[in-house]
Amino acid sequence: MDKQNYELIVKGFYDFLEEGKVMGRKCTRCGEVGFPPFIACNECGCPKTEWAEISGEATVTGLTMPGIMQNFPDVAEAFGPYCFASVKLKEGSEINAIVLGVTASDRDGLRQRLPVPVKPRIVQRDGYKTVFWELAE
Ligand SMILES: [Zn+2]
Repeated sequence: MDKQNYELIVKGFYDFLEEGKVMGRKCTRCGEVGFPPFIACNECGCPKTEWAEISGEATVTGLTMPGIMQNFPDVAEAFGPYCFASVKLKEGSEINAIVLGVTASDRDGLRQRLPVPVKPRIVQRDGYKTVFWELAE
């Protein structure tokens, strides 16, 4: 892996978040959009990728943790209840992500309604922005 290029891609991802854009990397060969951005295409291995804004259309396909996790108390303090979930993007990538606004009592009902639509929310953390997800309905 080309470390220098990878660092540029990571930096670019955060720079775009500052502009309010959630970006992935689109493969110039097969068109797969990778998210979060990676240096090469995860689908075909092609090293040539370019920036592409993701649609933001995504669904929760599974709740990956059994409870409201206490290991990011700063997240709960700043953004309220949340859970960990598998989020599948319309573009194809499936990621483990933080979904905001899900309480312990919401969880079982949510699980029965899967897949549930979510949308990205760019949030300010300590000195940088990152992407969490929230229920789209
Ligand atoms: Zn590809």
